[in-house]
Amino acid sequence: MPGFELFGEEEKKQVQDVLDSGILMRYGFDGMRNNHWKAKELEKAIQNRMQSKHAQLVSSGTAALTVALASAGIGVGDEVIMPTFTFVASFESIMAIGAIPVLVNIDDTLTLCPISVEKAITKKTKAIMPVHMCGSMANLNALKSICTKHNLLLIEDACQAIGGSYDGKPLGSYGDLGCFSFDFVKTITSGEGGAVITNNEKYYKNADHYSDHGHDHFGNDRGAESHPFLGYNYRISELHAAVGLAQINRLDDFIAIQKRNYNILKNALQGVEGVIFRTVPEGGEENYSFLSFYLPNEKLAQKIHKAFSENGLDACFYWFNNNWHYYRKWQHLINATSLGNLSDETKSKLQEIKQKDFSQSDSWVSRNISCLIKLGWTENEMTKRANKAKKIIEHILAQ
Ligand SMILES: *Cc1c(COP(=O)(O)O)cnc(C)c1O
Repeated sequence: MPGFELFGEEEKKQVQDVLDSGILMRYGFDGMRNNHWKAKELEKAIQNRMQSKHAQLVSSGTAALTVALASAGIGVGDEVIMPTFTFVASFESIMAIGAIPVLVNIDDTLTLCPISVEKAITKKTKAIMPVHMCGSMANLNALKSICTKHNLLLIEDACQAIGGSYDGKPLGSYGDLGCFSFDFVKTITSGEGGAVITNNEKYYKNADHYSDHGHDHFGNDRGAESHPFLGYNYRISELHAAVGLAQINRLDDFIAIQKRNYNILKNALQGVEGVIFRTVPEGGEENYSFLSFYLPNEKLAQKIHKAFSENGLDACFYWFNNNWHYYRKWQHLINATSLGNLSDETKSKLQEIKQKDFSQSDSWVSRNISCLIKLGWTENEMTKRANKAKKIIEHILAQ
């Protein structure tokens, strides 16, 4: 990761097709587009790769989450359970449709803790939205059981784990709906873009209409189409889809490179006393975009992370102090700082965040370092990095 490291001729050719016809929009203009339907083709490719009946492309991963929630009928006042460790897009999408984000602890998987999830369920809970952070997945089996028991939807945020799998199914395809991002720093990119996948025809139709102003997409005269319900514009452009089409065909090659580099680092750190790797749920296969591990305590983790950066191991993250990925820095959410009014219900539920005990999340995230696995690193470079990381950790833990 990220896919932009390996742009090549395929991406250029796909984009050139679109520029040659001049039709940058994914819908309509049938006669002028030289039969180029890049968004449609990319949707087919996503369906095939993700073993999913339907795929709807949208303008971003955040849009994918928003459209997934809206398509499943979630709206004002509904509660959606999300993890303390994720990207801000989780609560942004929930709040965009008027629903209420309920933050819940993570566990040693660095994703939603099923026990904490069950405790957070109320009469208003409509969905559980696990986030497969840093290339590995939530315990989907446990979460699915909870959803079945309480009649809730399972919506997977697979934006950081595309290409991984669980129980033999591609991540994103296990829940009722799954979401991907193709933003510029993801495993595959289209510049900006995202996708929703589902096996549920109704949710798919809703996503198709909702993401394009409610257009029903019958016939080939856009102006004459009807609007069965209110929608919005979350469309992707043909130019973006063209880049994505080239990239999805390379996904498995990218994952193979990530896996090679990941294993070099993992093998080097394996057996270093004091280092334990993040737990990957049984039956899960990561997409190898990060290697995440825990140190004995917060102080040592910070010290090692600092030593990594000072020694050129720059692509490693210490999420505990991160502005965007951990609840501790989400003051704008916790204080409900919004440009416009929020509902009283939302404001009062957000106030509860301050009183919640997230020490379980803290105990994992404060000890964690996640090292990004780049595509551009050769085996040789990766081996050097891995040995350097090992030496630094051993040196600091021996002090
Ligand atoms: C990147 C990301 C998103 C949002 O994707 P955008 O395309 O940048 O809007 C959502 N969730 C997670 C976990 C992400 O990493």
